[in-house]
Amino acid sequence: MERNRFFPKTDESGSRPKHDRTAWLKGGTAVCEMPPRKPLGKAWRIVLLGAPGIGKGTQAELLCERLGTCHLSTGDVFRTARFLPEREQTAAMKAALSCMRQGALVPDKTVLGLIRDRLHCLHCSGGFMLDGFPRTVAQAKALDKIMTEEGVELTAVLNYELPLERVVARLSGRRTCANCKMVYHIVTLPPKVAEVCDRCGGSLFQREDDRPESVGVRMKAYENNTRPLIDFYQQRGLLVSISAEGTPEEIYHRTRLMALGR
Ligand code: AMP
Repeated sequence: MERNRFFPKTDESGSRPKHDRTAWLKGGTAVCEMPPRKPLGKAWRIVLLGAPGIGKGTQAELLCERLGTCHLSTGDVFRTARFLPEREQTAAMKAALSCMRQGALVPDKTVLGLIRDRLHCLHCSGGFMLDGFPRTVAQAKALDKIMTEEGVELTAVLNYELPLERVVARLSGRRTCANCKMVYHIVTLPPKVAEVCDRCGGSLFQREDDRPESVGVRMKAYENNTRPLIDFYQQRGLLVSISAEGTPEEIYHRTRLMALGR
């Protein structure tokens, strides 16, 4: 029973059909053409925590694909904004993109403005998986307030853990598909053909903020600003800590077991 409640039926390939994230990526009045189907049980409302590069994005992809939940990544919103013509980028967005290139955190005010512009995504019928937000205690407190105002509750906060040097190795070998955003690693998860995405044939690239000069800045930002969220959510009884050792599939199955064990 419990299993069905949290892990609704998938199709024959083990995946749910992919829904789009237009409302999240564009914000404002944009709507998704194919929103997630309502799950059989209660929709998951999850926050993913963990150092940059630990594999949150990959887990979010796997979990969302199989559970029908929507992947709400703040980093993806900034990366989408980067491709907008300059005249369509606000001054706050230009400043945010400059922070991002250097690996620094975007100011809380900008990030919270972005969330407030997308409040309807918190009511997504499939539930949601927040990835990369909140990243500071101020953001977490603001999220608490927003969720109370919106009348929605978090199901759990999944905190992925791995020694720092291993995280840095993961970050520097990471490659992303420019088209479908599938994530690879040049050593542990290489594509079948170098630089080409197995899933859609798109070309793979290294994110600007995965370059060595940005990685140190991002790790420091994580230690100083984001790590305190572990205590924040522990105190609220929402935290589930999960080892990020192993392959993405192994971590995914560990996540299922640990989240189901709650
Ligand atoms: P990510 O893909 O989550 O690693 O995010 C990429 C970059 O976007 C980060 O290094 C930050 O510059 C920026 N960013 C994303 N989410 C946030 C956030 N919640 N607070 C501050 N900056 C963020």
